[in-house]
Amino acid sequence: MTQSLLEKASQYIVGGVNSPVRAFTGVGGEPLFVESAQGSRIHASDGRAYIDYVGSWGPMIGGHSRPEVIEAVQRAATRGLSFGAPTEVETEMAKRICEIVPSIERVRMVNSGTEATMTAIRLARGYTGRDRVVKFEGHYHGHSDSLLVKAGSGALTQGVPNSPGVPAGLAELTMTLPFNDLDSVRAAFREKGDEIACIIVEPVAGNMNCVPPIAGFLEGLKEICAEHGAILIFDEVMTGFRLAPGGAQQWAGVTPDVTTLGKVVGGGMPVGAVGGRREIMEHLSPLGPVYQAGTLSGNPLGMAAGLAMMDIISEPGFHQGLEDSTRRLCSGLKLAADDAGIPLSINQVPGMFGLFFTKEEPVERFSQVQACDIDRFKRFFHGMLEQGIYLAPSAFEAGFLSSAHSDEDIDSTVDAARQVFTRLA
Ligand code: PMP
Repeated sequence: MTQSLLEKASQYIVGGVNSPVRAFTGVGGEPLFVESAQGSRIHASDGRAYIDYVGSWGPMIGGHSRPEVIEAVQRAATRGLSFGAPTEVETEMAKRICEIVPSIERVRMVNSGTEATMTAIRLARGYTGRDRVVKFEGHYHGHSDSLLVKAGSGALTQGVPNSPGVPAGLAELTMTLPFNDLDSVRAAFREKGDEIACIIVEPVAGNMNCVPPIAGFLEGLKEICAEHGAILIFDEVMTGFRLAPGGAQQWAGVTPDVTTLGKVVGGGMPVGAVGGRREIMEHLSPLGPVYQAGTLSGNPLGMAAGLAMMDIISEPGFHQGLEDSTRRLCSGLKLAADDAGIPLSINQVPGMFGLFFTKEEPVERFSQVQACDIDRFKRFFHGMLEQGIYLAPSAFEAGFLSSAHSDEDIDSTVDAARQVFTRLA
């Protein structure tokens, strides 16, 4: 018997993967191994091409292997890979971020979304002199200790939303509340308001599948933070530059104090950023006492890729195109499910969508997400994979579109779903 690629990988890599959801534990079976990707398609080592709705979990908003990005990285590579000293391209990148996301007056570049959120909460704690952090159930903010409490994404898929190894004393300082429920936030602040440093929220949840905020929720968080002197952090690692050039904050019209970025900001390179009001950001080292650092932060290859990506998302009509494609896909899928008699509830925002096998509409709460038919999702996922459509391999992950998804791609995705739904019925 020949060994599968996963079996070979598992001889050396823990579980065969370098990030858990990739292992397909959420859907069963063995993961695709990718050889290359172009536009809307990934080319797998099984020799097949798949229309990709994962997009490297968000960064590939302009489609895979954009020549502008690849060439920018190649040009940068000829000048050296890392210097550990300031470069002008970092200033250029920071300036672009501040221009595109107006709530960001000062920025610090890091290497991942996890680092960005870890820094953001340390900054909030250092700035306010308070220790407690409020987050929401099913939201994922990377895998730092304080935030890996009732977490979404892979932590949820693996069934370990509270990871062993997070000291109880630290987890105790993380208050986890239901998303889209302002009353519970008000109650928490009534009780502990003077101990709460910040609220960190995915303004559109994308790690418990896709769940947008209900009307007034983000505005309410802002009011509560202002009233209690807490910092409002929008974790826009997923939504940044996607829902609108200025991210979910522009889309929703609510301005946070601090924003975390990742994924799109690096154009596919390992880049993250934390930014916000100058007065708060200047508490970071070297101006302030809150320590944060990184050997590879502001890496020239990452900055080159990120800048090229900022040009792509700034093209006129870019976000309108994404929104139109998202609508086309979601309305096609809904119609196909209805025709097959499959109860399907769909959430969508520009460039992001969530499919829920449930009769409930709309899906606004984590408890509703958990109550969906996960088994049916698994069968749908594998049915779609057979048809050449690559969806996120977990019922708790959002789907992503890119500007490279053509109407033909979307229509053939809907045709494939139509066939799969018929078999699921
Ligand atoms: N925050 C959000 C909202 C995310 O979606 C993610 C990753 N999916 C992270 C933080 C962590 O980012 P990274 O995986 O780059 O550490």
